[in-house]
Amino acid sequence: MLAQHLQPRGIDDRRVLDAMSQVPREKFVSLDQQSLAYNDCALPIGYNQTISQPFTVAYMCQAAQLKGDENVLEVGTGSGYGAAVLSLLASEVHTVERIPEFKKQATERLHRFGYSNVHIHTADGNQGVQEAAPYDVIIVTAGAASLPEPYRNQLKPDGRIIIPIGTEHTGQTMYRFTLKNGELSEENLGAFTFVPLIGEYGWPV
Ligand code: SAH
Repeated sequence: MLAQHLQPRGIDDRRVLDAMSQVPREKFVSLDQQSLAYNDCALPIGYNQTISQPFTVAYMCQAAQLKGDENVLEVGTGSGYGAAVLSLLASEVHTVERIPEFKKQATERLHRFGYSNVHIHTADGNQGVQEAAPYDVIIVTAGAASLPEPYRNQLKPDGRIIIPIGTEHTGQTMYRFTLKNGELSEENLGAFTFVPLIGEYGWPV
């Protein structure tokens, strides 16, 4: 997967490549999807949701510029795969999911495979997770309609927010917002497709 899908598309952060090669993606999908786990595509995980494409996970992790000592918030736990990858790249990972069944499944998986620095919250990710703030990085794995306002106050100085934002349900632009001297600067990281972020800064159910 690394040689075929990640390195040719510009993933060159050694730590990201190592983390991607260590996490067994097939263990985060259902039995009938396992043979497809190493194709570079999103796969259904139930409740109309998907596990992100490996390239997208790697790309967001690389954009987050993680060195290993960060406190990270992931919005949209889903299968728990992205959180598992992040757990190898940062010191603490908080991940928030609105569907309780996903929290249950992901907790069981992450525990079974020993990803002990991941903390899963069931809540509305539009609000961030105040109790574990501030974060070095907030990564949003569902497509928003605008940048959720609560995130800024949950970010450390020099913190980054990696988030897909789009005016439609079906296509987004990925942005990196960086907090410098109290101001958020914005970089466009290209076009992507995510399932919708549900709620205040996203879309209705
Ligand atoms: N990172 C996940 C990708 C999951 S897809 C993985 O590796 O599998 C996006 C997830 O965001 C879905 O599970 C969806 O239920 C969740 N989501 C959507 N809106 C949300 C919200 N407002 N708060 C928390 N989670 C949300």
